[in-house]
Amino acid sequence: MVLGWIVEPLLAWYDRNARVLPWREEPTPYRVWISEIMLQQTRVEAVKPYFERFVSQLPDITALAEADDDKLMKLWEGLGYYSRARNLKKAAQLAAEEFGGRLPAAYDELLKLPGIGPYTAGAISSIAFGIPAPAVDGNVLRVITRVTADYSNVSDSKVKREMEEKVRDILPPARAGDMNQALMELGATVCLPNGLPKCEICPLKEICEAERQGNPLDFPQKNTKKARKIEEKTVLLLICGKKTAIRKRQEKGLLAGLYEFPNLDGYLSDEQIRRQVEKWGMQMVSIKETGKAKHIFSHVEWHMKGFQVDVEQESARFLWTTKEERQDRFPIPSAFQFYTKILEKEQGKAPY
Ligand code: SF4
Repeated sequence: MVLGWIVEPLLAWYDRNARVLPWREEPTPYRVWISEIMLQQTRVEAVKPYFERFVSQLPDITALAEADDDKLMKLWEGLGYYSRARNLKKAAQLAAEEFGGRLPAAYDELLKLPGIGPYTAGAISSIAFGIPAPAVDGNVLRVITRVTADYSNVSDSKVKREMEEKVRDILPPARAGDMNQALMELGATVCLPNGLPKCEICPLKEICEAERQGNPLDFPQKNTKKARKIEEKTVLLLICGKKTAIRKRQEKGLLAGLYEFPNLDGYLSDEQIRRQVEKWGMQMVSIKETGKAKHIFSHVEWHMKGFQVDVEQESARFLWTTKEERQDRFPIPSAFQFYTKILEKEQGKAPY
């Protein structure tokens, strides 16, 4: 089939079915950029409240460029993949210095900003500036390979570039942003992954090659993912009087610069924990297990076992915080949510 055949039915379908989303209401370059970065690893429904809060507190590039790091992380807390937020701020600083506090209206210039790859540059260019640049993400790759029954391996960057060129060739100059969004929308709501395409309601079912062959699930072809590494951890809720210990993570690597409950590699026994607490300069008063939790990152899984440990005195190596301070000032990532909730529950009984 000729790929250009999809343009008319897809745009007509998009005009009738596009979801009402906060960033679509007012597609300024700043709002499109923030929404696209948030949507990279997170579902639309989860992003909506974060987006509203973010743009109301940091309404433009200047505010973002000058945002306090802890405030920025707090606004991002729960979305995960925090390097996205750090790159947003770096890019805003660059845009403030080099482009007068605006995003450049040029695909190649956008690509130079931290955190903006070909997909995001294409989305901002086409949706906010009307430039006919392709925005090809996983959703779009799935639709294109299915519609054309293309067995190329989309994990190959050369194949991805070829797909981008195919999309570029069919973008109608007057509606490039809508066409990109229509492709994404079809992939997100109809041509679904994991065995669930809704071909019966698809506007492309008459021309889709995979539907004709009866094998949409064969597409897209990609490399199988490597198994995630499992890391076991012991998480300690160290409590002294009304306060709980937290510490800042290193500035590089996973969850860089965020706060966490002290934790140690491996599953430790009560006795090993007592010795470690003493090494940190504290005396343990009591210990009780609080339960196991799991958190999945892209390449690693944390399997955590938690303990509430009451100690006699504070150690200067940690920050000793109340519940309010942790909620308002110290961004603790959702990887520790299980233990944050335990502390909140305990709050009813004692003011940690
Ligand atoms: S007909 Fe089915 S496989 Fe083809 S694009 Fe539509 S949902 Fe996807």
